[in-house]
Amino acid sequence: MLIVQKYGGTSVANLERIKKVAEKIINYKKQGHDLVVVVSAMAGETDRLINLAKQITEEPPLRELDLLVSTGEQVSSSLLAITLHSLGFPAKALLGYQIPIYTTNLFTKAKIKDIKVNKIKNELYKGNIVVVAGFQGVTDKGDITTLGRGGSDTTAVALAAALKADLCEIYTDVEGVYTADPRIVSKARKLKKISYEEMLEMASSGAKVLEMRSVELAMIYKVPLVVRSSFSDAEGTLITEEDEEMEKVVVSGITYNRNEARISIYGVPDRPGIAASIFGPIGEKGIIVDMIIQTTHPDGKADITFTVPRTDYKQAVKIIKEVAKKLKAERVEGDEHIAKVSIIGAGMRTHSGVATKMFETLAKHGINIMMISTSEIKISCVIDEKYTELAVRALHEAFNLEEEIPIKEEIIKKVN
Ligand code: ADP
Ligand code: ASP
Ligand code: MG
Repeated sequence: MLIVQKYGGTSVANLERIKKVAEKIINYKKQGHDLVVVVSAMAGETDRLINLAKQITEEPPLRELDLLVSTGEQVSSSLLAITLHSLGFPAKALLGYQIPIYTTNLFTKAKIKDIKVNKIKNELYKGNIVVVAGFQGVTDKGDITTLGRGGSDTTAVALAAALKADLCEIYTDVEGVYTADPRIVSKARKLKKISYEEMLEMASSGAKVLEMRSVELAMIYKVPLVVRSSFSDAEGTLITEEDEEMEKVVVSGITYNRNEARISIYGVPDRPGIAASIFGPIGEKGIIVDMIIQTTHPDGKADITFTVPRTDYKQAVKIIKEVAKKLKAERVEGDEHIAKVSIIGAGMRTHSGVATKMFETLAKHGINIMMISTSEIKISCVIDEKYTELAVRALHEAFNLEEEIPIKEEIIKKVN
């Protein structure tokens, strides 16, 4: 089999752990598998590098920042290759630009456009274990880029798709995908399997166990994806196509996201084209808008509230203030201390009453809902950041997630 494995930052945090990872890899190699291993930077390294740059200036030039942070993965990938060599197994570490992994030129959040697989295939053919520095790529012009935080997951899945690998395994510091972040909910339960679609919603709403883009790619290219632990041999979670069994489960997981901020623009003229003129300039900067709410007043004006990633908050406020001036809007306001809690489940398509139960649970705990958004299989509420843990635990309990049975029929009435 051709297996792509990815080891996260905590799994390669020091030389001792790198050795443990190398031993795991060698075990697979001894069974006759071909291995492409993607690594993240050693734990804390990416943050440390970003911090260094931010000590010089609040807004470092993004091209230079990418050049800087990509070094984290250069260190870990070469250390792993050296360790494999020392244990008698030939390995070759490759950086993004050496493969090459071509990306767009949106520095700090570049997207993979194309991967040339020849070099990797040659190395595998020669019997080498290929170690790939995650999170990075290169533009057509030769500039180094990074894929956004958590991007090594995406490198791994993209490589698995490009190489048509038989399996992509994401090794991390928990045993799989849980019904909620096990760091917050001690009773969270490990899922045996979850559909691509549910996992996509979980990732996009905050479960950082997999980066969102990696799930998107896995879904498109049908990459068999497993999340499991670097520190144990426990069976992980399989991310796969939806089956009937999954549909029966109304709520599969609860997520939270404290990385967003809210911006409101009040008193804009309510006429066609306004939304485009507000969100156009934000989109051009690669800032992703999540929730949007518009309320119209009888006087022909409207208020628009939306959320953006917190890291883009300052830039977005600056843009919106300029837009507000042009549109002669009344004022702009923002709040960085919000959190979004979401419940996700394929069974929501066929069950009613889920939203009500969520709202009632939050109300019972005195938590005010600022914004609500829904998709077919997800309901999200924006709340005050200080209630995040309380909300997640309360919802986990209310939906009975520690038990491995579909939610009780008397609680949620089946539609059909
Ligand atoms: P890595 O460095 O290996 O990429 P991450 O820190 O990015 O690891 O992701 C793993 C973390 O994701 C876990 O330690 C856990 O706290 C968090 N997490 C959040 N939600 C979930 C979930 N539903 N299931 C499992 N882990 C989750
Ligand atoms: N090292 C990068 C980060 O910390 C990429 C990754 O770990 O996936 O975001
Ligand atoms: Mg990660």
